[in-house]
Amino acid sequence: MEFSLFGEKFTRHAGITQLMDDLNEGLTNPDAIMLGGGNPAPIPAMLERFQTEAKQLLDNGELVKAMANYDGPQGKDRFTKALATLLNKELGWAISANNIALTNGSQNAFFYLFNLLAGEFADGRKKKVLFPLAPEYIGYADSALTENHFVAYKPTIEKLSDGQFKYHVDFESLQVGDDIGVICVSRPTNPTGNVLTDEEIEHLDQIARDKGIPLLIDNAYGVPFPGIIFSQAKPFWNSNTILCMSLSKLGLPGTRCGIVIADEKIINAIANLSGIINLAPGSLGPAITIPMIESGDIITLSEQVVKPFYQQKAEFAVTLLRDAIPDPRFHIHKPEGALFLWLWFEDLPIHSQALYERLKAKNLLIVPGHYFFPGIDDPKWRHSQECIRLNYSQSEDLVRRGIAILAEEINQLYSGN
Ligand code: PLP
Repeated sequence: MEFSLFGEKFTRHAGITQLMDDLNEGLTNPDAIMLGGGNPAPIPAMLERFQTEAKQLLDNGELVKAMANYDGPQGKDRFTKALATLLNKELGWAISANNIALTNGSQNAFFYLFNLLAGEFADGRKKKVLFPLAPEYIGYADSALTENHFVAYKPTIEKLSDGQFKYHVDFESLQVGDDIGVICVSRPTNPTGNVLTDEEIEHLDQIARDKGIPLLIDNAYGVPFPGIIFSQAKPFWNSNTILCMSLSKLGLPGTRCGIVIADEKIINAIANLSGIINLAPGSLGPAITIPMIESGDIITLSEQVVKPFYQQKAEFAVTLLRDAIPDPRFHIHKPEGALFLWLWFEDLPIHSQALYERLKAKNLLIVPGHYFFPGIDDPKWRHSQECIRLNYSQSEDLVRRGIAILAEEINQLYSGN
């Protein structure tokens, strides 16, 4: 049997596949310490709320109704209307349900959007997706139909006190030519926990408008929900923005519900794509969360339960890491949001892939950092081989044991043994 070019491209061993394989191993190998994946934590108060909502739906017959029917290709009507009302009220965004489409997870939306706005055009031109700041989310890297679909820029690195650092967009180097179809950022960023400043977002918005292309903001961890942001950041949307959100990091990744908020032309395109590829997005996530959206509880829970839960865990992990690895060449990206700490081992004598393998042999699973530079092809750039991503949201015991294994390895490497 032969696979087509499409088949070859999408069956290659991708970074995201390794991540998902590891996640699976983490779930099935009882000894594995899984600090690799992007699964949100089981937050008791959130699980309890989902349980209550699910039971209510079961009792009033809505659960079976949701399962027994296809929604329209744009997603469940009542959900999109309720969300538009909530965002109007809370953030003053002038949007209606016509500005919202649901997809099967936001991952699904990125595949649509990257191929809608970049790739090959009817007149023979080619356009790319621009990441103005890499490291960026690993899941973007393989979600394009054409090769060389992405271009990215290295960040500037600001060293802060306490062994922390922060990435910034290098606007002096950034070039947005006519071969760019969309500018894309995740905010907060997976893997680094970086939150682009309001000024950076406004600047990118201006560049995008000047070029007549959209600015795509991946808000999977952002405000107003799930609200996993520890620094000050204004929620951002205007008619040139494509904002992608998700129910996953609120604690419902299994419902596969992504949310695209954009100009109607984009929303109609997403609905058409959904119709062809999926018939309709899944209806369970919207069904369960409609009451939380209509009441506004989704925002209160994000602020009062989800955010403090992760913030406390991030602080705990940072303290452990600082104590365990005293070497001044070890830096932590300022944890401003998302579920991860981005660790930079400056002058690490081995590649982060080799570090990953050594740690995996000791049953600790992390993600080596070099995967997170889609669109940057510079094997000589040491920084891209000196970082790892660590999910800090597991139990204290696992995080403690995981960090002990990591510290032993790093301290040995730094001491030259
Ligand atoms: N965007 C970012 C930055 C992510 O980290 C993830 C998942 O980890 C996604 C998008 C995709 O999430 P989902 O497809 O579950 O909405």
